[in-house]
Amino acid sequence: MSATTIKPWVVGNWKMNPIHADAQQLISEFKTLLQDSPVEAEKCHLGIAPVTLALTQIQAALSEAVRPVYTVAQDLSRIAGLGAYTGEVSAELLKDSQIDYVLVGHSERRELFADTPSILNEKVKNALQAGLTVIYCVGESLQQRESGQAEQVVLQQICDIAAVVDAEQWQQIVIAYEPIWAIGTGKTASPEDAQTMHAKIREGLSQITAYAVTLPILYGGSVKPENAVELAACPDINGALVGGASLNAASFHQIAQAFANTQ
Ligand code: PEP
Repeated sequence: MSATTIKPWVVGNWKMNPIHADAQQLISEFKTLLQDSPVEAEKCHLGIAPVTLALTQIQAALSEAVRPVYTVAQDLSRIAGLGAYTGEVSAELLKDSQIDYVLVGHSERRELFADTPSILNEKVKNALQAGLTVIYCVGESLQQRESGQAEQVVLQQICDIAAVVDAEQWQQIVIAYEPIWAIGTGKTASPEDAQTMHAKIREGLSQITAYAVTLPILYGGSVKPENAVELAACPDINGALVGGASLNAASFHQIAQAFANTQ
């Protein structure tokens, strides 16, 4: 099963970067690039995930772009609604600020902030109930890959959320396959290896949801202009979650063009 007709997504994950002035400069440069060298909205979804503190500022700056660029939250609270939860930002608060997209389960959250499968399920459930689209990140460690467990680990991470995603809510899910050993390391999965895993993910999804054929599966892990064209050519790679290279407007724009050009 493959899904070449899915409109690709290119989403920049800025992580805990950059300072305010550099963020404004980056958005300004990106908007100019989009104006001078368009990435057509019909051919590619675009999104940027800044730090929580900057979500509404970046959203305001992106509202003046020549085409839609979504503002994406990097995380959300496991607690829904409002209340006495110091430091937390709920799905409802994101939605109230017109933030419609959120990353859940990034490997840095899983590893460094103890986001366990049960916590991630609460986050996914809250986000979907509030009407957000979830970019759900999955991926294996180097040790898991070397011991032949990569596929099993990734499919289990997808099965984990099946308990909290209703039949129709799968339309609000985007999967991002990010092998941990490729994140921020400069090492990218070969297009063949990435395609193989993406096809397995789609096959796994087909056991769970009728929307498997239309569900976008993004690749993440050292995506850059130099490898974007080859990755974009793979039938089951429906876009990219871009870390480091999204902090450079020209690189991020070139990656977006690579994926838009496959349409
Ligand atoms: C990420 O953190 O989501 C990521 C893919 O980072 P990088 O592109 O820097 O590997």
